[in-house]
Amino acid sequence: MKRIAFIGLGHMGLPMARNLLKAGFSLKVFDLVADAIETLAKEGAQAASSAADAVQGQTVVVSMLPASRHVEGLYLGDSGLLKQLEPGTLVLECSTIAPESARRVHQAAAEQGLAMLDAPVSGGTAGAAAGTLTFMVGGEAATLEQARPIFQAMGSNIFHAGPDGAGQVAKVCNNLVLAVQMIATAEAMALGVASGLEPTVLAEIMRQSSGGNWTLEKYNPWPGVMENAPASRGYTGGFMAELMAKDLGLAQEAAQVTASSTPMGALALQLYRLLLKQGKGQQDFSVVQQLFVE
Ligand code: NAD
Repeated sequence: MKRIAFIGLGHMGLPMARNLLKAGFSLKVFDLVADAIETLAKEGAQAASSAADAVQGQTVVVSMLPASRHVEGLYLGDSGLLKQLEPGTLVLECSTIAPESARRVHQAAAEQGLAMLDAPVSGGTAGAAAGTLTFMVGGEAATLEQARPIFQAMGSNIFHAGPDGAGQVAKVCNNLVLAVQMIATAEAMALGVASGLEPTVLAEIMRQSSGGNWTLEKYNPWPGVMENAPASRGYTGGFMAELMAKDLGLAQEAAQVTASSTPMGALALQLYRLLLKQGKGQQDFSVVQQLFVE
């Protein structure tokens, strides 16, 4: 039986950890927020008092943290976790971070004799709860085979994107498309409603027409159109706008490195930065709808 340390129990990490428990894995969990640890402890996980405590005696580490600096802070340096893990421990880093940052952790892990994968996910909080996430994996194919049963307990699509950091590149490209689709959908919803259409009617017409996209299928930004979307619960409980701004920034960094032209991604980043200036960074990223309504 694999013994898993799970670090980072936020919007995504908590339901992911819950699915590992349901699949029968033994879990030791840690987050900076004590409530999250308690919730999972009540469901059968072992509570840890620190990240270092969480990894004691475990053979796998899964982390789900906000951004590059949290991941590098956790794993790297003299007091970082990599120095405390037994050789052979499997490290599955699932946060969305810069490909360069993921490669730094890969390199440091290899130096300690540890197998590591960068394995960011897509599918949102609903996918995390349902265990239907998509994993985009960077690293050795043989390591992915070792990790596959763990990913399968949390997701339904597991892709090997390529070598170290490739999972992060795939994720950044995906989120660039997602942001642009969300903004375009919000813009069109506002235009249609301002012109007298019923939001639910317009949403359904576009969903079934050539403008159809993931945001119209699963995540409409107009309040009340989709009962289960964050827009219908005050833009709470989803993917925070500040995390989308972070991912769009990562896309621009990658574009800089490769001299790629990414004008739509650049505009999307500017619009999300504007939302952050309006104090909406902690709300779900579909709150971009509010840029287009009074
Ligand atoms: P979140 O902010 O809800 O959760 C992050 C958690 O990490 C928090 O509970 C925080 O307390 C904890 N944390 C931070 N530093 C820590 C440390 N040093 N030790 C232990 N815990 C620490 O974020 P989230 O929405 O769960 O997203 C996590 C990652 O997944 C991000 O990189 C995000 O971009 C990515 N992601 C999110 C979604 C989504 O829909 N929310 C979808 C796909 C990918």
